[in-house]
Amino acid sequence: MIPGDFEYHRPNSIGEVVSLLSTHGDEARVIAGGHSLIPMMKLRLAAPEHLVDLQDVAGLVGVSEDGGAITIGAMTTQTELIASKVLAENCPIIREAALLIADPQVRYCGTLGGNVANGDPGNDMPALMQCLGATYLLQGPDGTREVDARDYYEAAYFTELKDGELLTGVRFEKPVVGHGYAYKKLKRKVGDYATAAAAVILSMNGGSCVSASIALTNVGDTPLYAQAASDALVGTALDAATIDQAVALAESITEPASDGRGPAEYRTKMAGVMTRRAIEEAKERAQ
Ligand SMILES: Cc1cc2nc3c(=O)[nH]c(=O)nc-3n(C[C@H](O)[C@H](O)[C@H](O)COP(=O)(O)OP(=O)(O)OC[C@H]3O[C@@H](n4cnc5c(N)ncnc54)[C@H](O)[C@@H]3O)c2cc1C
Repeated sequence: MIPGDFEYHRPNSIGEVVSLLSTHGDEARVIAGGHSLIPMMKLRLAAPEHLVDLQDVAGLVGVSEDGGAITIGAMTTQTELIASKVLAENCPIIREAALLIADPQVRYCGTLGGNVANGDPGNDMPALMQCLGATYLLQGPDGTREVDARDYYEAAYFTELKDGELLTGVRFEKPVVGHGYAYKKLKRKVGDYATAAAAVILSMNGGSCVSASIALTNVGDTPLYAQAASDALVGTALDAATIDQAVALAESITEPASDGRGPAEYRTKMAGVMTRRAIEEAKERAQ
């Protein structure tokens, strides 16, 4: 299929992007890696009249450390996330999850910003950002604002992003040194979106869990932050009964569709299996 006609813009600065988006309103879309938008345009599920390419926009690429926080520019590709020394040392779950996205060709082009801004419940990074307690950095005609990843997603492809706004990056506090982590993803084959996936970050002290965070991918209209399941782990030794309880709580918030990846009941159970495996591996990795 061939996309509809559009006018192509290639600005150099965030200010120019915001100005173009403000001028053209909902007739304009930004394009980052193009690996979600172009297929949608080819299927005519998206038909923007103005395409604003972010490739040449300064200041949107890279991973930086600032005290206890890490900021990742929206145009940082998944390949760059995988190669980042800062992330490998401070937050290796991002590398682990990025390696489970699609295939190397997609990862060379697909960006963190495109992955989280889009609102596709199948994307892996949104739940991970919720697990990390990340904040999305947005810039629009009225200036900048920040939205918690846990508050950003409203429904499939509906987000807090307003017309005229650009997501410029994400920021999160580094998980504590010695934290345990795991991203577990069930997929039908290499390159597929998740049937169900779970991100877990936790920390232990003297055999007791002192913090825990769990989020789920592709088992609802949005990524799901599993608050009750996370809370159930804290203050325990992560014994079998506690993990059973957390798994049940995680399953209880899922609302997957029945589709080619399986019936809803199966996908809910798989969310539980992924949660269990991620908690167990995170516990093993925690120091
Ligand atoms: C074959 C295939 C398999 C895939 N498998 C997976 C998978 O398993 N897991 C997974 O997570 N992803 C998967 N993806 C998606 C891919 O990883 C990209 O993350 C995704 O395409 C979005 O990133 P992008 O840079 O390509 O965004 P684009 O396609 O350029 O943009 C996507 C949407 O986000 C908007 N957007 C982009 N950047 C910004 C920004 N900075 N601010 C505001 N809005 C923005 C665009 O306007 C558009 O609406 C797959 C893609 C393909 C083609």
